[in-house]
Amino acid sequence: MPINPVLVVHGGAWAIPDDMVEAHLNGVRNAAAAGWRPLEKGGSALDAVEEAVVVLEDDETFDAGRGSFLNRDGKVQLDAFIMDGATLRGGGVGGVERLRNPVRAARKILSDSPHVYFVAEGAERFAAEHGIALCRNEDLIIPREVERLREYQAQTSTHGNDLFAPEISHDTVGAVALDRDGNIAASTSTGGTLNKAPGRLGDSSLIGCGCYADNLSAAASTTGWGEPIMKLVLAKWAADRVESGNLPEWVAKEAMNYLKQRLNGHGGIILLDAKGRFGIAHNTPRMAWALRTMQKQEAGIQRSA
Ligand code: ASP
Repeated sequence: MPINPVLVVHGGAWAIPDDMVEAHLNGVRNAAAAGWRPLEKGGSALDAVEEAVVVLEDDETFDAGRGSFLNRDGKVQLDAFIMDGATLRGGGVGGVERLRNPVRAARKILSDSPHVYFVAEGAERFAAEHGIALCRNEDLIIPREVERLREYQAQTSTHGNDLFAPEISHDTVGAVALDRDGNIAASTSTGGTLNKAPGRLGDSSLIGCGCYADNLSAAASTTGWGEPIMKLVLAKWAADRVESGNLPEWVAKEAMNYLKQRLNGHGGIILLDAKGRFGIAHNTPRMAWALRTMQKQEAGIQRSA
C-alpha cells in the first residue's frame, strides 16, 4: 500500500493577540508549503521538517532564528534539535549565538557526526567546519525585541512580572513529518524564553523533552514553558503512549492535561505516528499550526477540545 505523506508544523502556543494572528497563520502556512515540497517528490521526512523549520526561523514573527527573544544580556541564544525516526539519529545545538538557522547545524550533526549535541562556540565551530556561514549576534537582533526586553526588565524591577503566565509569548517553532517510505521525523527550534539567564537551555533542543521521533512510536514537537516540559520529558512521554496503542489525537490532549495537572505547565504539542495519524493540542488560549496531507491543507490558531 502506498504511504501518503503528512506534515504538521507549529509556531508556538500562547495567548496570541488578534493583531498577530495573521502573521502567525502566514508563517505556519509558508512553512508547511516548504516542508511539503520534498515530501510530495518522495523526499525524506527529515528534509521536510528541516525545510519547514528553516522558513519559521527566517520569519521574524517567531521566537526562532532572527527576531528571537533576547536573553538578560540582550543577546540572542538559540537552541534546536532534529531527529530521524528511522534510525533514532539526532542532532542538537544549544546556546548558539552566530547561526541564522540552527536547524541546519543540527541536521549536519545528525548526518555528519557520531555525536548528538554541540553547544555554544563548539557548535558554531562545528557548523563553520561543515560549510555553514556564521553571522554576528547583532544580525539576529531586531528592534522589536530590544524594546520588548527593555519593557520587560523595567516592569520586573518594579512589580515582578510573571515570566510564565500564558500571555507571555511562546513562539518556538517545530515540525513533524511522515514520508512515502514510512519514516517519521521531528524538529524544534527556539530562542528560548524572554530575559533568560545567559546559558539557560530550554526543553526545545533536549531529546525527548521538546522533540522526539521514533518510527515505532511517534514524532513530537512541543512548545511552551520549558522547565515543566523538560521535567516531564514530555515528547517521549507522549511517544510512549502512542507506542502502547493510543491515538495521537488523544495522547496530545492527555500530554497537555498531564503538563497542567502535574506541574501547572502550559504549552502545546504536535504528534504524528508512522501510520499518518496525528494530534495537535495546547492548553494555552491559542497555538499556531498548519497541516498538509494528500487530501487537505489546513492552518489554524486554536485546536483545544
Ligand atoms: N519551550 C521554549 C523554552 O522554554 C520556549 C517556547 O516554547 O516558547 O525554551
